[in-house]
Amino acid sequence: MNHIKETILIIEDENNISSFMSTILTANGYDPLLAKTGAEAFALATSHCPDVILLDLGLPDMDGLQLIRSIREWSRVPIIVVSARTHERDKVTALDLGADDYVTKPFGPSELLARIRTALRHVRSRAADERVAQTGVFRAGGLVIDYDKRRVFVDEQDVHLTQNEYKLVSLLGKYAGRVLTYDYIIRELWGPNAKGNNQILRVNMANIRRKIEKNPAEPAYIFTEVGVGYRMIEGE
Ligand code: CA
Repeated sequence: MNHIKETILIIEDENNISSFMSTILTANGYDPLLAKTGAEAFALATSHCPDVILLDLGLPDMDGLQLIRSIREWSRVPIIVVSARTHERDKVTALDLGADDYVTKPFGPSELLARIRTALRHVRSRAADERVAQTGVFRAGGLVIDYDKRRVFVDEQDVHLTQNEYKLVSLLGKYAGRVLTYDYIIRELWGPNAKGNNQILRVNMANIRRKIEKNPAEPAYIFTEVGVGYRMIEGE
């Protein structure tokens, strides 16, 4: 089989962390590239056009957030923030600036690899997404979103979502595996003027969980990223 390795740019100034990531990536068939500073990273990003960027926010020469802004001026390459910063504000800012996802340190290999797979899958489906409306079926465990019928099923039972609830579930399904911020969801669903109205979102999510989750307090399909947003489980 002809397999072209995907290039992953690791932007990380701590040697032990970057070599840990590099080892995991090599072992899983990726081609890692290493940068220790923002300047180095920017040069490599432009010269090598990596398939995914893993970005530490605390860099010696600049804030990683600044780097997201510069890269987004010319590229849509998936950027996964890998940071020790646990402040929700930093995560939200990174995502709003155009980062695709984030992983909080310390993290395990499987978590990192899952995020990379999700990012690559979204790149592949993006071109198709832009041409046609979402069609087909999303499936994860007992949950099925039928985009043609605009219906959601759990264990083959129609869960009878309202229009708003369906829009929310279908949006999360479209970006399954990825965290979507509250503001992003609100803008997508109800337009720019609804910005900041988290109450509608919370009420809709509570109703959705009552309909689709066996135990709404411990969701199996749609997870809350506290203070940041929601994430749908990865599809099959
Ligand atoms: Ca650092």
